[in-house]
Amino acid sequence: MQHNNIYPTLEDLPITEPSQPHSEASNGERDLKTALWRGWRRKCPCCGTGSVFQSFLKVRKSCQVCQQDLHHHRADDGPAYLTILIVGHIIAPLFLHVFITWRLEPLTLFTVFSIGAVALSLYLLPRLKGAIIAFQWARKMHGFGAEEDNWSESRNSAPLPQMLDNEHETSITQTD
Ligand SMILES: [Zn+2]
Repeated sequence: MQHNNIYPTLEDLPITEPSQPHSEASNGERDLKTALWRGWRRKCPCCGTGSVFQSFLKVRKSCQVCQQDLHHHRADDGPAYLTILIVGHIIAPLFLHVFITWRLEPLTLFTVFSIGAVALSLYLLPRLKGAIIAFQWARKMHGFGAEEDNWSESRNSAPLPQMLDNEHETSITQTD
């Protein structure tokens, strides 16, 4: 009936292990320029070695080299928007210039510029998507910065069930 030993003593508390080095191995700061360049090259913004994409535009769940989670990205329509913006600003003035200067046949003009626009779009789209994902990673957007927090949270919450078990055992022994 007495509650003398209900609180765990220091010996009962689990010893927390020293923190493991995170795969990113940074002091919290992520270099934006390096990340953007890696993203443009369609490489993982964290290690610069693993590929971000498993197909033309499909992003891997995580990096195969450094295990950096990549599913947090929210590139959405950003790459397509930037691609249209850039391709439009290159193709439209160029089209006008070529039309005024050389007066090419309409069919020739159409063929050259439609192929050029499609080729440039296909070139830019995955690179801009990689760069946008890298930007989000460098700025720790959309959960890219939460991995360390989640990890430390899981470490801090880990001792709790053990403490409860100890308490439970104590209460059982007391009732007996
Ligand atoms: Zn990586």
